[in-house]
Amino acid sequence: NKTILLASRPNGVPTQENFAFEVQDVPALQEGHVLLKSLYVSVDPYMRGRMSDAASYVAPYTVGEPITGGIVAEVIDSRNPQFPKGTVVMDRLPWQQYIVHDGSGLSKISPDIAPLSYHLGILGMPGLTAYFGLLHIGDPKPGETVVVSGAAGAVGTVVGQIAKLKGCRVVGVAGSDDKIAYLKEALGFDEAINYKTVGDLKEAMAQACPDGVDVYFDNVGGEISDAVYLKLNKFARIAICGQIAYYNATSAPTGMRVEPILLKKSALMKGFIVSDFAQNFNTAAKDLVTWLKEGKLQYQETISEGFENIPQAFLGLFSGENTGKQLVKVADR
Ligand code: NDP
Repeated sequence: NKTILLASRPNGVPTQENFAFEVQDVPALQEGHVLLKSLYVSVDPYMRGRMSDAASYVAPYTVGEPITGGIVAEVIDSRNPQFPKGTVVMDRLPWQQYIVHDGSGLSKISPDIAPLSYHLGILGMPGLTAYFGLLHIGDPKPGETVVVSGAAGAVGTVVGQIAKLKGCRVVGVAGSDDKIAYLKEALGFDEAINYKTVGDLKEAMAQACPDGVDVYFDNVGGEISDAVYLKLNKFARIAICGQIAYYNATSAPTGMRVEPILLKKSALMKGFIVSDFAQNFNTAAKDLVTWLKEGKLQYQETISEGFENIPQAFLGLFSGENTGKQLVKVADR
């Protein structure tokens, strides 16, 4: 039974050396416990924050202890009548092939609603993040222009599509020509900008948003955001969802001051964590399932195979290797 531990805290961009593999025996099951087999492991940018020891909204990982994150797993042995053998569950669990668990906090998931992996993506944390950040903070109105950075990722792809559903003009920013083509051709974005090759980002943003920007859903920060801020309309709303451009920074970020623009444009900027909206998760999940079933939302995953490849899949988030939600498939059901 393999486990992945935090071997050391990264300084700057994380590497394989920050992770260590350990092999342990699976202990015998006690009364009330279940044995889980990990099926799909989610790798997410927020985990970079947990690898360092700076205070944040989730506690840091401990050096020498397993990394934890969203996992879909199957009960393969059970001494807990609530979770019979064959049940599929989801929770924040250790990066481990087999996990002994007392059942507390496990959510059951049904393969009838959607493929099991979707519960780590569009029907899980990233989908809910897109839904609440866009609809509750961005509050998009038909005909408005919505810009989303990190547009081709797990959150961004859902943001842009919901904004299209709401009748908006949608502009995405992402880091490869394949991603740009995907956003425009498969997801129906009106415009998409490759921030790595475009040259003058401010000029490109101005061209892509001839009527200005009403809603900015920010996954990234940095120069992409500066270009958007220069195009904000009166009463614009800015949802600060992520700032991945700074997650590996070794000094405090500096750049344009946005306050004079917010003032002149009576704009609202609000950071949020998806759990702020926990009371409304059920309503949101119903909407997302409905839109998926009606074919109004397309969904894309990048799935690596094999437990050994979890660290690499995580590292790839910082070089843009994923389109849509990055997962690792660890075992068949
Ligand atoms: P993604 O699936 O979008 O994966 C990360 C993507 O970010 C990469 O594919 C890459 O795409 C892009 N990226 C990486 N480094 C940079 C950089 N330096 N500058 C610009 N783009 C970069 O991840 P998620 O959709 O899961 O998460 C998106 C954001 O939302 C993250 O910032 C995350 O922390 C945040 N988040 C916040 C939540 C909340 O509750 N507030 C909940 C969930 C996520 P590219 O090829 O375009 O560069």
